[in-house]
Amino acid sequence: KSREIKKELELQLERLGLEQEVQVVMTGCFGLCEAGPIMIVYPEGTFYSKVQVSDAKRIAEEHLLKGRIIKDLLFKEAIEDGEIKSVNEVEFYAKQTRLALRNCGKINPENIDEYIAHDGYMALAKVLTEMKPEEVISEVKKSGLRGRGGGGFTTGLKWEFTYKSKSDKKYVACNADEGDPGAFMDRSILEGDPHAVLEAMTIAGYAIGADTGYIYVRAEYPIAVKRLSIAIKQAHDYGLLGENIFNTGFDFDIELRLGAGAFVCGEETALIESIEGKRGMPRPRPPFPAVKGVWEKPTLLNNVETYANIPQIILKGGDWFSSIGTERSKGTKVFALGGKINNTGLVEIPMGTTLKEVIYGIGGGIPNGKKFKAAQTGGPSGGCLTEEYLDTEIDFDNLVALGSMMGSGGMIIMDEDNCMVDIARFYLDFTCDESCGKCTPCREGTKRMMGILNKITEGKGELSDLDELEQLADYIKANSLCGLGQTAPNPVLSTMHHFKDEYLAHVIDKR
Ligand code: SF4
Repeated sequence: KSREIKKELELQLERLGLEQEVQVVMTGCFGLCEAGPIMIVYPEGTFYSKVQVSDAKRIAEEHLLKGRIIKDLLFKEAIEDGEIKSVNEVEFYAKQTRLALRNCGKINPENIDEYIAHDGYMALAKVLTEMKPEEVISEVKKSGLRGRGGGGFTTGLKWEFTYKSKSDKKYVACNADEGDPGAFMDRSILEGDPHAVLEAMTIAGYAIGADTGYIYVRAEYPIAVKRLSIAIKQAHDYGLLGENIFNTGFDFDIELRLGAGAFVCGEETALIESIEGKRGMPRPRPPFPAVKGVWEKPTLLNNVETYANIPQIILKGGDWFSSIGTERSKGTKVFALGGKINNTGLVEIPMGTTLKEVIYGIGGGIPNGKKFKAAQTGGPSGGCLTEEYLDTEIDFDNLVALGSMMGSGGMIIMDEDNCMVDIARFYLDFTCDESCGKCTPCREGTKRMMGILNKITEGKGELSDLDELEQLADYIKANSLCGLGQTAPNPVLSTMHHFKDEYLAHVIDKR
């Protein structure tokens, strides 16, 4: 629909003779799904929401020609007591700190000049002309950045390990195989700011001593694939990828590898197998990818959001980045906020922001005056946070301490009408389907758990089924080969812990 709106607006601008004065730019995602399609009129930042093709004529004639803002098209929170707010003043955006998403919704991702105009490739220039690889790694370490893909491992240490691995050949890889139900953070960055990832990977290549990078991206993300392909070509045309970048003698190139949609390929060793053209199945670790990764060579693997932070860390310094966030979780985190929430969309918050602020401040609360029940974080690997934890400061360690996890950033909100047993079954059904089958605890155990959950939700369960469910969950967690199996029981355990009464209400006590 956005394309149709753009086309109609351009026709209207031409009709009014404004085509030289007003430029219509297609950007990546603005993050506020609830209000789409969105149009922002700059320089003042007028925020129109739910725009239709039929609105293009009015916008052109009234706003762009006569300078009159069309109030009934404004986003509901962009007008208060008759006063009009710019997009940056609207609470949803004003309460965020957008670092990884800084260019999303601002620049045309298919135009490298717009990225360059927003300091794009400045960090790469700085690294190649002023810094030694060790200094780059030291800056990333100083930032305190931890992997945004779920594990939360310190990024700088990973870079250092790969740098120190001795080999004639090394690789940089990007995990863009985002697969959690409801998560679309990485997709948004790739679609809205693909050059940021290319720039970061090139910086990483210089730091660890690699000349080749792979981006492993889901084929189900066709716009991301298209924009990455355009960005790679443009970077080549500008001499920012390929041989002798900035005439420094440094060579680096990036290839795309398309994933076929297996969730397990988000696991780093399965991803590496898949890059090599094999079936995506996890390998036992150690050896870790920093020692033996792609083609058995040392490989630095980070996810999209992690890379998206790198250019700014280089430009503004590790100290600047580490001044944001909490003691042990620095910077910001992007969450895909969905479920029973008024403002569904992508939000980027400093680590340490409370759950309450995300749900009631940025998210606008629960629709229809319903009561908040739980927030599921970490997708099928995570758990839920209940009302008593609304004041919890969100960071890696706090979420783990509460039996959930950050994961890649999915945050699904449940209200009083949601059945938590159904929620647990939904996530387990997903992991059961996505189990690669390599190891028995995960392959067979998740099926057994599904069988019990189905029985319970059909009203045929018994109290003893709940004990078996817990025993199986503990066994699968302790004995599965990879993270998928080790975390698959989490949604069941977490909901059993917080909502045992709902499980009990489902079972028939036959004792
Ligand atoms: Fe495959 Fe599951 Fe075993 Fe991982 S834990 S290797 S996904 S069967």
